[in-house]
Amino acid sequence: MDLDTIREVVIARERADLTLLGESAAVLAGGTFLFSEPQDQLVRLVDITTMGWPAFEAVDDGLEIAATCTLAEFAGAAQGHELGEPVLRDQWPGTALFAQSCRALLASHKIWRTATVGGNVCLALPAGAVLGALVALDGLALVWAADGVDRGIPLRDFVLGPGYTALRPGEVLRSIYLPRSSLLAHTSFRKIALAPLGRSGAVVMGRRDPDGRSAVTITAATTKPVVLDFAAPPSDPELRDALGAIDPTLWFDDPHGSPEWRRHVTGLLAREVAGELRERAS
Ligand SMILES: Cc1cc2nc3c(=O)[nH]c(=O)nc-3n(C[C@H](O)[C@H](O)[C@H](O)COP(=O)(O)OP(=O)(O)OC[C@H]3O[C@@H](n4cnc5c(N)ncnc54)[C@H](O)[C@@H]3O)c2cc1C
Repeated sequence: MDLDTIREVVIARERADLTLLGESAAVLAGGTFLFSEPQDQLVRLVDITTMGWPAFEAVDDGLEIAATCTLAEFAGAAQGHELGEPVLRDQWPGTALFAQSCRALLASHKIWRTATVGGNVCLALPAGAVLGALVALDGLALVWAADGVDRGIPLRDFVLGPGYTALRPGEVLRSIYLPRSSLLAHTSFRKIALAPLGRSGAVVMGRRDPDGRSAVTITAATTKPVVLDFAAPPSDPELRDALGAIDPTLWFDDPHGSPEWRRHVTGLLAREVAGELRERAS
């Protein structure tokens, strides 16, 4: 839709252009959310898709994913399309969560080609499955501040609640770093929705690192991603105790599922995920 209040669109080419962010201004990435509803509080958009950031950069001890990486690029990377040869899905089994999380979104391939990883993370919706996958893979958000100082935020601490993040005014999410241990991890994925093509009611993702450390991450069912950490793939009783310790106010309530239903189905999905992590360990 047209955004009638916008007076200026800045095409950002270098970091200095990002100083034009601030009061009444917003980062424009794919725009799939920004152009979907009125943004009456905004007069300026700063387009970061023109910054020329490579979608992926393999670094010695992991992988850096640009905020402007599209969901199509992200999903394709799981098949090795963007990361070069040989196909890295085999070398980095953890990347299987990339495409699985994109498929959990209630969005078409048209949206995939435009929407960005950073937009999904910064929108901070409970149904932000790409956000959830990057949390499940123990991502670290690299944030550019307006004063030129960078900071890193563990992605599990990035979302404060639906639509709220730890970003301060004028800050831009530059990239997400995934450690090598997560890329080498075995993963498991489960999703449930009230309707076959409905918005996710609960998404549970598991990760088992090469040293056995494991994590079960819950999203869509909770107001923000919840990570349960274990020294080894959890037994059913260990998992039940950890699920029982989740703050009861975190279970999300909207037309896609009641908090009680979400808590119940999350328990079932989490048991399946933990079972798969244990199988991988044997
Ligand atoms: C049909 C349809 C279905 C959808 N389904 C889902 C769904 O199931 N789950 C879901 O989570 N979303 C869904 N969305 C919402 C949205 O499309 C996705 O979350 C998408 O990933 C947002 O990315 P974008 O690049 O288009 O973000 P934009 O619309 O460009 O931006 C989204 C928000 O994030 C901010 N932002 C973007 N990038 C940065 C950055 N690098 N640094 C700081 N701030 C930034 C923007 O200022 C804006 O506030 C859907 C949208 C549509 C149209």
